[in-house]
Amino acid sequence: MAKFPEAQKRMFGNVFVCKRCKSKQRSTSQKVLLGKQTCRSCGGKSFRTLRKGKQASGAK
Ligand SMILES: [Zn+2]
Repeated sequence: MAKFPEAQKRMFGNVFVCKRCKSKQRSTSQKVLLGKQTCRSCGGKSFRTLRKGKQASGAK
């Protein structure tokens, strides 16, 4: 099976991690940058992208 960078980007590119409670939020970078995305659990507004050098698949 081939890997699709586009698909991976689509899957993991829209996921952000709350900097306060580390919960994952699915959103768009646009919303995060504009500060319109709020965390469900803590109401925080600072997020980082999920991709941080670690492969999302097979990590666990
Ligand atoms: Zn949070």
